[in-house]
Amino acid sequence: MQYQKILADIAAEIEPLRNVGRQADYIPALAQVDPDRFGICIATADGEFYGLGDIDECFSIQSVSKVFSLSMALSIMGENLWERVGKEPSGAAFNSLIQLELDHGIPRNPFINAGAIVVADILMSQLENPETDFLAFVRHIAGDSSIIYNRTVAASEREKGYINAAIANMLKYYGNLRNDIEDVLRFYFLQCSVEMSCRQLARAFLPFADRRSTFSFDGVNLTPSQVKRINAVMQTCGFYNDAGEYSYLVGLPGKSGVGGGIGAVYPGRYAVATWSPRLNEKGNSVMGMKALELLTTYTRESIF
Ligand code: GLU
Repeated sequence: MQYQKILADIAAEIEPLRNVGRQADYIPALAQVDPDRFGICIATADGEFYGLGDIDECFSIQSVSKVFSLSMALSIMGENLWERVGKEPSGAAFNSLIQLELDHGIPRNPFINAGAIVVADILMSQLENPETDFLAFVRHIAGDSSIIYNRTVAASEREKGYINAAIANMLKYYGNLRNDIEDVLRFYFLQCSVEMSCRQLARAFLPFADRRSTFSFDGVNLTPSQVKRINAVMQTCGFYNDAGEYSYLVGLPGKSGVGGGIGAVYPGRYAVATWSPRLNEKGNSVMGMKALELLTTYTRESIF
């Protein structure tokens, strides 16, 4: 497959979208990012690598981090994880309080904020040093020890994180948060603040394209069966209340974040990462989603 040529064609075709959409500014630090950026990288299971655009610039991965926290929690808790968080698409905004109340404090899935806050709580209870252990896992899965938390972004989000604080309080009320509310929020915001480039993100998603081997690191073992399930949750829940549209257009398990990043996989073949900060009204990168739609259209490689 002529991936590099296809990426060049895609970049040319999506150029008119460069100024479409708005970057997230509800986290003040994210409003500082130049919104007119675009990068795309493919890392294949055979060790090939293709990239184009701003692929080495680090951005805030935000909710893409929820794939890594879910991986750790599923590996540690096994199926018991699902007693505290569901695995159904939410069909509601990623920070919906109403839905959490209707569901009596059991979040719909681990990729909406409420679900990821419960997962953060579980990791805090299970890991000896949650902050260090989470970052070590991300560094290992990406094969890059230079990856860091951006504590300025985390602090900026905490300062204005009223809705997430409300979610955490509601979880506590319903008995689905074991640790101190403030400590869980701090850890959750820190996870979201991890910075990665497209190149690093594509590599970090490669284990999710692997259908055969168990991924192991320091007590976290992701079996092929668990990888299959994480991909299923990505497919059904990875794009907030745009998950159906994303499935329809793209057809690759993936996860987006309000920093404008997307990580996705074509199982058995490759992982792909895109970054472009301008978002559609559901919170997904405009150029990123279009690029992935064109990728699966031109390659005819999708899970459907
Ligand atoms: N840290 C962000 C929040 O909690 C993550 C949201 C996202 O990327 O979807 O609002």
